[in-house]
Amino acid sequence: MVYSVMKRIIDQSIPEMVINSTECQWNPADNKVLKDGKDVTFTPEPNRRYEVLLNNFKAIHATDAYYPALPTYNQRAFELNMEIPEADVEKLFVSLITSPEIKQVAELIQKRLGRNLEPFDIWYDGFKARSGLNEDDLTTKTQGLYPTPAAFQADMPNMLRKLGWSAERASYIASKIQVDPARGSGHAAGAAMKGDKARLRTRIADKGMNYKGYNIAVHEFGHNVEQTVDLYDIDYYMLQGVPNTSFTEALAFLFQKRDLFLLGIKDNNPDKEHLASLDALWSCYEIMGVSLVDMQVWRWLYTNPDATPAQLKEAVISISKEVWNKYYAPVFGSKDEPILAIYSHMIDNPLYLPNYPVGHLIDFQIDGFIKGKNFASEVDRIYTLGRLTPQAWMQGAVGNPIAIEPMLKAADEALKAVGK
Ligand SMILES: [Zn+2]
Repeated sequence: MVYSVMKRIIDQSIPEMVINSTECQWNPADNKVLKDGKDVTFTPEPNRRYEVLLNNFKAIHATDAYYPALPTYNQRAFELNMEIPEADVEKLFVSLITSPEIKQVAELIQKRLGRNLEPFDIWYDGFKARSGLNEDDLTTKTQGLYPTPAAFQADMPNMLRKLGWSAERASYIASKIQVDPARGSGHAAGAAMKGDKARLRTRIADKGMNYKGYNIAVHEFGHNVEQTVDLYDIDYYMLQGVPNTSFTEALAFLFQKRDLFLLGIKDNNPDKEHLASLDALWSCYEIMGVSLVDMQVWRWLYTNPDATPAQLKEAVISISKEVWNKYYAPVFGSKDEPILAIYSHMIDNPLYLPNYPVGHLIDFQIDGFIKGKNFASEVDRIYTLGRLTPQAWMQGAVGNPIAIEPMLKAADEALKAVGK
């Protein structure tokens, strides 16, 4: 049913009167609206979704003249913002989504679901590690440890020591991070100059920090460590930071994954790592396809700058079906599915989507490289490389450019271990 709703959003046949309203009943499959049990006539939402995207294009297109070296937004999104050429990114994506491992993982998912794959199984989440631990018990523990932001602050040197930093180094890093109460879920803001502190914002309820809040706080703590190490321990100020957000997210996730370890809890699911590898590959398969649609839509916009919202809609739908038929239909069986066009990110944040899979690859590669090594000294070494270009940073960090091979290799091992 949710997929039916999505298709109505994509082709804009969704009745305007059912959006944000509980007045009528709507059957998304046959697109009928009922009020008091009777059929009512309706008008569909008038291509609003594509009008927003088109307006974004028009605004961005108007700034092209000010970038003579990079006159299209595709060039700027990749060469200027991500600092990796679009063609290189596309090549990485296509080689992953056409890899034989994808088909093998799809077969495993089919087996686990006990039915044929449906298009929405691009969001299959059965590989997500579920530790089997009770969240309420974890919350009791985190509430006891961290009743206030100050308690979390006081424990930071101890947490860093558990991760492998020396007592002296742990206090040094922790002394440059200030924990503040948050109204939102959590946030990390780096300092902009030496002498200032990075901010770790964490939400703490009346009874203390719950497990969800703790899990997020540990993620933010990872950001803060990156923000501190690559500001304070970098010799040249202009090199402070990381190449782009993917690189700070990588360290945040490395911390977050160790949240139970920091609580002194052993997670004894032997397949956890293998399942995480399969989950990473399947997530990349999904988000890379969505990204390819985003990239092609922008190329289409540049060749059709005077399109109407209705023409843009048709183009988005046909591009998403093309990408589906090329890379997903051979795996899923069904053809002409428009599902890859559903992301609202593509509408309101043009060409941001490709950053996610590139981030997944970086994260996976660093995680794999650090495995079995001293976590603290590797983090110190890698995160003092500074704000190089992404490929130069990766070369320095793990000895290779950004690549899909580590993820495919891990998937091969995981398929052997859990694929029976
Ligand atoms: Zn983050």
